Amino acid sequence: MFDNGRVTDLRPRLPSPLREVSDDRFARHGVRLLLKRDDLIHPELIGNKWRKLAPNLERAAGRTLLTFGGAYSNHLRATAAAGRLLGLPTVGVVRGDELAGRPLNPSLARCAADGMRLHFVDRPTYRRKTEADVLATLLERAGAPDAYVVPEGGSNAAAVRGCRALGEELRGRTDVVALACGTGGTLAGLAAGLAPGQLALGIPVLKGGFLGDAIAALQDEAFGGRRGEWRLDERFHFGGYARVTPALEAFASDFERRHGVPVERLYVAKSLFGLAALAEEGAFPRGTTVTAVITGRPFP
Ligand SMILES: *Cc1c(COP(=O)(O)O)cnc(C)c1O
Repeated sequence: MFDNGRVTDLRPRLPSPLREVSDDRFARHGVRLLLKRDDLIHPELIGNKWRKLAPNLERAAGRTLLTFGGAYSNHLRATAAAGRLLGLPTVGVVRGDELAGRPLNPSLARCAADGMRLHFVDRPTYRRKTEADVLATLLERAGAPDAYVVPEGGSNAAAVRGCRALGEELRGRTDVVALACGTGGTLAGLAAGLAPGQLALGIPVLKGGFLGDAIAALQDEAFGGRRGEWRLDERFHFGGYARVTPALEAFASDFERRHGVPVERLYVAKSLFGLAALAEEGAFPRGTTVTAVITGRPFP
């Protein structure tokens, strides 16, 4: 599949481990809880970032990779790491020109150390980054006019098709699969890979209520129509992206202590909190098996 023989050099651990944990918040409602450890797929291209990037790295076929993200983007970090590991030049277009000339935050410093060239752009330009003339200027300025462009968050049709494997790995193992959603690309692919009767449940970490349409559009682009059974529960964004309340922090550190799993706060904590709240509300009939996808790991 990876005909240049390079993407396989990344040696992912697939299928990712699946294990049952005992948690009374689920058990007292007769619900089994499994953890799908996508955080263990690769030490640097973590979780869904590996699943989404791998098919794009293959298609890039050695060209410079140019992509987009905010100052703390997990996707930028994963792309930079892939670039270093595969010897591919990478360019990161970063939202916010006020960041230019300031010391880099730890996340961007890691990107730079991995060899990613960073281009800071003002917010109005960043919003228009998919328009042909804006993109052409960005590619020009990056000195990489023929770069392979990966969208913000890494979610394009190839990425969504790559995430089907996550669903396929869970066929016959669970009734419900829950995961945190940013762009929704992972959910779009996961749902398409599950068997009939299995439900993919997305917990958006951004406020806005726009994600359902975005996921339908991604499935359309990747598969030519809606696939699988999926829905969203929009109640657990905690005020928006990167907002962590004391209650969420307490939940996450308690989950880490109970189960010995590092809980990434921006995405994973919100999905686990949402899933536990749903179990406590009696949303799942007795005898249901639910799987939480651990889509990432805290950045050190
Ligand atoms: C990027 C990311 C997500 C969101 O994935 P989408 O495909 O954009 O919905 C979820 N969890 C973690 C840990 C991530 O880094």
